Amino acid sequence: MRRQLVMGNWKMNGSRAANEQLVSTFLSLWQSVEGLEVAFAPPAVYLPQVAALLASSKVVLAAQDVSAHVDAGAFTGELSGAMLVDIGCQYAIVGHSERRAYHGESDQQVAAKALACLAIGLTPVICVGESLAQRESDETLAVIGSQLDAVLNVLEPAQLKNIVIAYEPVWAIGTGKTASPEQAQAVHHFIRARLGEQGAVVRLLYGGSVKASNAEELFAQADIDGALVGGAALHAEEFFQICQAA
Ligand code: PEP
Repeated sequence: MRRQLVMGNWKMNGSRAANEQLVSTFLSLWQSVEGLEVAFAPPAVYLPQVAALLASSKVVLAAQDVSAHVDAGAFTGELSGAMLVDIGCQYAIVGHSERRAYHGESDQQVAAKALACLAIGLTPVICVGESLAQRESDETLAVIGSQLDAVLNVLEPAQLKNIVIAYEPVWAIGTGKTASPEQAQAVHHFIRARLGEQGAVVRLLYGGSVKASNAEELFAQADIDGALVGGAALHAEEFFQICQAA
């Protein structure tokens, strides 16, 4: 019922030449399948280039961030959801832990960005996750719960079917440490329950050092509907293997 989604977050990596190589190698390997959607989230400056490279494929485009401002105006450096849709994006990542940590994005700003996406028909991929200290002090579910509640407080229940949530434990991002399938499933189950009646249709991605070697056991969990992949998404063969595991 829920279509799986594997999204590669390139973060601040790439060049015109490297992007072309990555996308063309991936597309030479990948045959699109009904039950799985694949997305690339390159740096914003390369979105038009990657949109052109993906034009004849079914791989879709995602932005790594979006402005909380819906209307055009004096917001230097910001990119609106309308601009992202205009250049072919279907998704925007919001609230990635690197944005929360390095740019001070609060739960309320993340919720405002999710709303801005929905206002223009862009699907927000809303990231939530606990730090290592929070996990060790048994605060994981409380932290995830309040990050989610900030979003649930501003969205109408009917809008939930148009969002994706990515559970990304901060201690697992770029560290090589992956949450065990059981740890990830427990949090995904909690998130789905917190979403209430609409939870059954919301896609929940896991993110945090997903690799070809651990993807299959993560995807086998009942509440994991795909992955948000960082480092491994920069390697076409490995990203292809992760997509195959889904
Ligand atoms: C991410 O940045 O969203 C991520 C999950 O990174 P990595 O796969 O490198 O841990």
